[in-house]
Amino acid sequence: MAESVNVIGAGLVGCLAAIALAKRDFEVTLFDYRQDPRLETTKDRNLRSINLAISARGITSLEFVDEQISQRVLKNMIPMRGRMIHDLAGNQESQDYGLFGECINSIDRSVLNNNLLDEVDRFSNIHVKFGHKLSRVDFSREKQTCVFTTDAKEQKSYDADFVVGCDGAYSTTRSQMQREVRMDYSQEYIDCCYIELYIPPAETQDATFGSFVMSPNHLHIWPRHNFMLIALANGDGSFTSTFFGPWSLVESLDSRTKIEEFLKCNFSDALDVMGHKNAVDAFERNPRGALMCVECKPYHVDQGRAIILGDAAHSMVPFYGQGMNCGFEDVKVLMRLLDAHPQDRAAVFAEYSLNRHEDLVSIIKLAKDNYKEMSHGVTSRLYLIRKKLDTLLGKWLKDKWLPLYTMVSFKADIPYHKAILTEQRQKRILAYIQAVILATLPIGGLGLYKIIRKTLKNYRK
Ligand code: FAD
Repeated sequence: MAESVNVIGAGLVGCLAAIALAKRDFEVTLFDYRQDPRLETTKDRNLRSINLAISARGITSLEFVDEQISQRVLKNMIPMRGRMIHDLAGNQESQDYGLFGECINSIDRSVLNNNLLDEVDRFSNIHVKFGHKLSRVDFSREKQTCVFTTDAKEQKSYDADFVVGCDGAYSTTRSQMQREVRMDYSQEYIDCCYIELYIPPAETQDATFGSFVMSPNHLHIWPRHNFMLIALANGDGSFTSTFFGPWSLVESLDSRTKIEEFLKCNFSDALDVMGHKNAVDAFERNPRGALMCVECKPYHVDQGRAIILGDAAHSMVPFYGQGMNCGFEDVKVLMRLLDAHPQDRAAVFAEYSLNRHEDLVSIIKLAKDNYKEMSHGVTSRLYLIRKKLDTLLGKWLKDKWLPLYTMVSFKADIPYHKAILTEQRQKRILAYIQAVILATLPIGGLGLYKIIRKTLKNYRK
């Protein structure tokens, strides 16, 4: 008889995990405390689309689970080939993400989630239970007993051979596992608040951008040192824009006049395309989100009884656009291990915890560090020179020199922790080249050229 699994959370990662497990013939029950988000009655009309950047790690993980499903669920994504930096005067400067035209992609979160739920429905061995909030897990018996509170306030129990917790940053599965396992755990709020804003489609079609008011193929950034605004395109010609800034700054903007003055002063071109009144309304009324990082270890309960994936195991700040990508990669990594040792789930879970941790803490750290780069670094001259040099070397030395962004976003086969190690080595070389440039400036161009050429030739070998 097929083994049974309770997957907790029908978000992005939970749906993918359920599909991957169903394809391996497990009898899957997928629970979520929300009602089915595809039902008309549950659609929140006040919420506009919120989009995410999906890159190679997310896409290849979806493909690993099922190529056709991947094609179907990703069909409406919009490629973004670089950042578009907006300065205070409204000038725009494009900075490519990839060395050879690689793109990340903007995709509507709820469309992606709904598409994945449609795919879940195609499997006769996945049973979906909405309106079920996990409150407790009993790991003490042969089967794992998950206790839920339903929307009707009833308590219901479901037994399974094992549990996969994909219930997000505030995971109940994780807190229940902590009663069973000596789990290291840390949670850190960063001093950054986010507010979703909205840029509507153009009123008239533009010859260059169609129904968009600016390039849809860029991730737009208005970097202002300790705060910033970003915008990603949606399929309907609109953009979802997000403001990020310290809580004290947001709290100091306590009147409409102050908000409008602040937006006018710092993001005047964005304000024009949002519409002044709409922008101030949204800034004043939309929910203010907190950002936090969660690290823990191990990710499993022994004897193959439970495991956590996605934000439940590694919530990170959104500045590398990797939270969901990394969660999808969790599913791929776990499935590869299960495929290699289908009869030994206990060993698979233990190996997953042991080997995945280094990568997860690496991407959590990278995401935190990238806030500085997005809000400030991209405007610094030194950063731009280094980036140009980094890009030049990448183009010239090909796979022997890979900028960090390329490794994280476009090279899914490079684990996050290896990307950091490679970057550290390359950084030392870049610093050396910079020092050589400064030291040899008095010698003149030819001497400088010869030294750099020799250094790089040695590196290429
Ligand atoms: P979630 O999406 O949180 O889903 C968890 C599910 O579990 C939910 O459906 C919830 O209803 C359910 N649940 C929770 N508790 C229970 C319970 N007790 N019982 C039953 N069900 C429960 N990532 C990217 O890759 N690219 C981006 O560009 C990006 N941008 C982001 C921008 C912002 C502002 C933020 C905040 C995050 C961003 N992320 C991005 C991160 C991404 O949103 C998350 O990593 C991703 O949603 C994690 O998916 P998940 O399925 O693990 O968790």
